[in-house]
Amino acid sequence: MLKTNAFDASAGDTVSEEKLEMIERRRRLLGPAYQLFYKDPLHLVRGEGVWVFDADGNRYLDVYNNVPSVGHCHPHVLQALTKQASELNTHTRYLHDNVLDFAEKLIGTMPDALSQVMFTCTGSEANDLALRIAEDYTGGTGVIVTDYSYHGMTKSIAALSASMGPYVKLDKDARAIPAPIHDPAHPEAVGKRFAADVRAAIADMQRHGIKPAALLIDTFFTSDGGFFDPPGFLQEAVEAIREAGGLYIADEVQPGYGRSGEHMWGFQRHGLVPDLVTLGKPMGNGHPMAATVVKPHILERFGSESSYFNTFGGNTVSAAVGLAVLEVIEQENLLPSIHQAGKAIVDGIGALATQYPVLANVRGVGLYASAEIVDAEGKPDAAMALAIVNALRDEGILIGAIGPHANILKIRPPLVFKEEHSRLLVEGLEKVLSRL
Ligand code: PMP
Repeated sequence: MLKTNAFDASAGDTVSEEKLEMIERRRRLLGPAYQLFYKDPLHLVRGEGVWVFDADGNRYLDVYNNVPSVGHCHPHVLQALTKQASELNTHTRYLHDNVLDFAEKLIGTMPDALSQVMFTCTGSEANDLALRIAEDYTGGTGVIVTDYSYHGMTKSIAALSASMGPYVKLDKDARAIPAPIHDPAHPEAVGKRFAADVRAAIADMQRHGIKPAALLIDTFFTSDGGFFDPPGFLQEAVEAIREAGGLYIADEVQPGYGRSGEHMWGFQRHGLVPDLVTLGKPMGNGHPMAATVVKPHILERFGSESSYFNTFGGNTVSAAVGLAVLEVIEQENLLPSIHQAGKAIVDGIGALATQYPVLANVRGVGLYASAEIVDAEGKPDAAMALAIVNALRDEGILIGAIGPHANILKIRPPLVFKEEHSRLLVEGLEKVLSRL
């Protein structure tokens, strides 16, 4: 996952002298672990709504970034940020209304049982905290994830992010199970198979004397390639983990904040109320903030025995920003337009698939869509996926590729993406496919 669609000079990727100098400077200063997207990496200098602009003044349609959730440089968010930053920025050890107003509004979007929130700066930290709470509450250590999951970068969470590859070892008490299947012809089989895999993982843990603590899943399985259907298919798996004494942690870093166009939270698509919910990326529209939302009885002992402080999590400015993002989603009534723009993407790419057999299993919900790129025998074709991603970039349209075979187009624009933008994407894709 980490090297998908990466610039690679050793593979013959060539760029301008100016970019080469910057790339060498990055490598010298930031070291070898960082990755740049695209064969010709972008040097971006400005963003506005669903558009980003490079140093040469070229405009790109952003169909990839979920962090600027309500659009790059949204004026309402900027105003909240600059106003609060010029008044006071401090931490949660002083009384301040912002963190309370934000917490109240955020919790107000969740089912009633999820009524307490703790703030962090990254999704990794939010998952790390959720895991500590789950282990404390259950007395277990066994965590079930999917086999191309990504949940973050801390030591404990990287060990639960199977997509990091074999160099990063899976936690010895964890079990990675196959992602759900995409099977519109047999929708009832999807949940059954996934629950059977969860039960098998629990049984294996128990055989090894490991007590289950949690099922930790990205509700839309985004790094596994995007699996959304049928609604409700997760219920049986969640019952299974709870029967075994474990908790259900919904990683909503990707599906949260209305991405489905149906609900504010991805787990609502499955009619579930998780025990813990972790949030991140879209919360601050680019400002680094994340959170763990929890049912109070689960937090009770952990909270009284182990104090919690996160220097920057929930700071006065972040809270103002977080509140402003929620206000924009509400004021601009984004859910219906997310639904419409997303439907136009899936319908448009679905229509292209009847003409171009490289496109298979086109699917999506709201503004998250996946399309598998396959060869003549229907096998994953990562080279073709990469060619499409790079050709689109050259057409001024930014998407990515994902999944265990790196052959799934990842379409995940800011939430202010509208139908007119979906049309631009589909037209661009058609142009690229006809050429390739
Ligand atoms: N969970 C999921 C599902 C994610 O996609 C990510 C980030 N890609 C994380 C957690 C980690 O978030 P962060 O990078 O803010 O630590």
